[in-house]
Amino acid sequence: MNDNLTAVLYGIEDLRLEQRPIPVPKDDEVLLQMDSVGICGSDVHYLVNGRIGDFVLRKPMVIGHEASGIVAKVGSKVKHLQIGDRVAIEPGYGCRVCDFCKAGRYNLCDEMIFCATPPFDGNLTRYFTHPADFCFKLPAHVTMEEGALLEPLSVGVHACRRAQVGLGSEVLILGAGPIGLVTLITAKSMGASKIVITDLLQSRLDVAKELGADETLVVERGASETEVVKQIHALFGGAPDKTIDCSGAEATSRLSILATRSGGCAVMVGMGAPEVKLPLVNALAREVDIRGVFRYCNDYPAALSLVASGKINVKRLITHHFNIEETLDAFNTSRHGLGGAIKVMIHVQPKDTNNPK
Ligand SMILES: [Zn+2]
Ligand SMILES: [Zn+2]
Repeated sequence: MNDNLTAVLYGIEDLRLEQRPIPVPKDDEVLLQMDSVGICGSDVHYLVNGRIGDFVLRKPMVIGHEASGIVAKVGSKVKHLQIGDRVAIEPGYGCRVCDFCKAGRYNLCDEMIFCATPPFDGNLTRYFTHPADFCFKLPAHVTMEEGALLEPLSVGVHACRRAQVGLGSEVLILGAGPIGLVTLITAKSMGASKIVITDLLQSRLDVAKELGADETLVVERGASETEVVKQIHALFGGAPDKTIDCSGAEATSRLSILATRSGGCAVMVGMGAPEVKLPLVNALAREVDIRGVFRYCNDYPAALSLVASGKINVKRLITHHFNIEETLDAFNTSRHGLGGAIKVMIHVQPKDTNNPK
C-alpha cells in the first residue's frame, strides 16, 4: 500500500497526476480507498478559469468531489463503519458549532470544508480521509457509481425541498444538464404531476424524456422571452407552480420569474454571473417567491433511499467511463461534451471491482 496516485490541479489548464503520501485518519475519520469519482461542472470550471466567484485557486488542489469509496481504516472513535464498508462520501462539512451548523443548515457555515473548493483538497485520489459521519454506507445492491451520483442527486433533492415540490406540483425545470436531470428525477419521485424541462440542446431533452419528463422544449438562444413564456404555458395548460433554474444564465433566471404562476416559487440553483438583470417588479407584484439553493444539507439520506428503492435510474446519467490514469482525457470529454457526454465517471479502481455481482 504505497501507490496514492492523485489528480492535482496546479492552475488554469494545468491538471497533473502525481503521487501523494497516504493520509492517516483522525479519531473521527475513516481512510477510504477511493472507487468512483464523477466529474462535475465545477471541477471543469476550476480547470478552465481557476476560480468560481470568490473561490480562487491559489495553490495546487486535489480535484474531485462526487465520490464513493471503500473503508480501509477507521479512527478510534468511529462506531458505525467497518473496514470493507462501501460508502458514498458527502464532500462538505461545517464547523459543527456555529448557529448554522447547530440549526442543521451546515451548507451555510462560514467555515465549511468542501472537497475541491479552494483551498480544500478533493478526492480524485487512491486514498482519502474524511469524517466518518459524512460517509453513508451503501446497501449491497447499490453500485459504487450510484454512490458517487448521490452528490449531484442531493442537489436535486435540496432544490425540490426548497421549492416545496409535493403531490400534484407542476414543475418547470430550466436546463437539462446533470443537475436539471437529477432535479427532474427527484421532482417526479416527490409526486410532481407535471414536469416540463427546457434546454438549448435536443439531445439532452431526449434523455430528459427517457427519465420521465412530461414535455420538453428546445429554447433557441436569443428567442423572444414572451414567446418562450407562451410556449411553456401552452405545454402546462397554464402556469407552473414552481420553476427550478438549473442553468444560471440570465435568460433562464428571468424566465424562472416570468413563467411561474402568481404566488408560486422560483428556485435558483445554477450559478452564472454575480449580477444579472431580473424582472423584480413582476415577481413582487405577483408574489413569486425567489429562493436560492447552495449545494445541500441533510439530503444524502433521502438521495440514497431514492436510489436504493430502485424506483429511479440515475445510472442513465453516466455516459462515459475512464480510469484514473486517463483523467486528462476524462476532463476533455466532460468539458467539451464529447460524444454527447452528460456525466463522466472516473474509476480509481477497475470498474465493477466493488459492485454487486
Ligand atoms: Zn458537483
Ligand atoms: Zn458551522
